[in-house]
Parts: sequence; structure tokens; C-alpha cells
Amino acid sequence: MYRLAFAAAVLCATLTSPVFAKDIEPALHLVHAGPAREVALTFDACSGAVDHRILDVLLNERIPATIFVTSRWLKRNAETVAVLKAHPDLFEIENHGDHHIPAVTDRPQVFGIASAGSLEAVRAEVDGGAQSIRRVFAITPHWFRGATARYSTDAATAIEAEGYRIAGYSLNADMGASLPAASVAKRLSGAKSGDVVIAHINQPTRSAGAGVAAGILALKQAGAVFVRLDATESEPATVAPPAARHPAF
Ligand SMILES: [Zn+2]
Repeated sequence: MYRLAFAAAVLCATLTSPVFAKDIEPALHLVHAGPAREVALTFDACSGAVDHRILDVLLNERIPATIFVTSRWLKRNAETVAVLKAHPDLFEIENHGDHHIPAVTDRPQVFGIASAGSLEAVRAEVDGGAQSIRRVFAITPHWFRGATARYSTDAATAIEAEGYRIAGYSLNADMGASLPAASVAKRLSGAKSGDVVIAHINQPTRSAGAGVAAGILALKQAGAVFVRLDATESEPATVAPPAARHPAF
């Protein structure tokens, strides 16, 4: 009897240990006050290059956006960095980390990417990204979005304790730049007022970017007003239901 009870207790302890804790994938919506269809475009620049199909639309149409950059993307894209710096009226630069390591401490990988594994490594990722942004743009970021946009709860708490707001989203336009252009354009052009859109601006060779560009133009034509995260109020992050989970890196 005692032996059985003990075994059950051990099992429960194992099942509820941090090893099996669920990550969170915060959602984010704009607080919508006026009659305009307000949409926040946020782009991740994880690594790799720049997608001019998207950047050129933003520049030519003078559409403001929030861009989450990593240290490693900044190092490899000096020419684009100069363009971003030249247009502070359009581009808000925020923190996507140092080496694009997911802020997850309780399992070794997220979508096949090695996770931070400890709070020390999470802080190094966050602080390294911030230092690069300060050095390159002479500004301090206020929003953080980790690689894969997923967080273990302890990591999310630690990031917020550093004064950041965690940049969730409400519309995943390109599923990690994995969708074909037509699907991306359809998803993006269907953005509702208050949506915070996530897409990628670092994958010029994938089909998805053409859909992002087309979707932005369709939204503009439909009268959407584009806002940055630093120019509007947004609702506190909440935990997205499991059904809403998709790759977002
Ligand atoms: Zn990323």
C-alpha cells in the first residue's frame, strides 16, 4: 500500500517537473480606439539576408513597421542597417536576441533549434541583442521577441523583470517564411483591426516574401493604417491556446 502510494507520488512529481512544463507563446493585440483599421506589422530578422521585396514596399509606400533584429543579422547586413538608420520615422528597431536562441529553459530544442537551457543563457541572449542595438542604432530596445516566439514561463518572467515587454502577435502571416506566396498574401490581407502581424524580412529566396509584399499592398489599398509597437497601446500578453501554435521563427 505504502509502496504504491510512494510510486504514485514519484510519478506525479515527475509529470509536473519543469522538464515537462509547457512553453508559452504570448498573443498581442493593439488596443483599438478609433474607426480606422489599425494593423501593426512586425518583422523578424533572425539571420541571413534582407528581403527587398518587403523592404522596398515599406520604403516606397512609406509604411511604418517594427523590426526585430539579432546581433548576427546586424553583423551580416550593414548595407540594410544603413537604410534602417536613415529612416527612423518608418522603422522601429527592437530586440530579437543575440544568436537567435529560443528563450526556453526546460527542453533542449524548439522546432529543432537548440534552446537557451538556463536563465543565464536567456539573459545573455537578451542582453547581447540589446547591446548590439545600442551600439549600432544608439537606442535602447523596449520589446523582446525570442527566437521561435516561445518562452518557458521562468524565461518570460526574467525577460519582463529586465523591463521588456514580450512581443507576441495575433496573426502569423508566413509561418516562419514557410508558406507559399499566395497563402501568405491571403492571410495578411485578411488582417483585422488591432492585429499584430508577424512575418519575416530575412528570407529573400523563399516564396513567402512575395506574399508579404502583396499582402501589405492589398491592406494599404483597403485603407488599413499601419502602426508601430512604440506608437500605440497594446493589450498585455496573454497565453495563446495550443490550437494557435505554429512555427513562428
Ligand atoms: Zn527569428
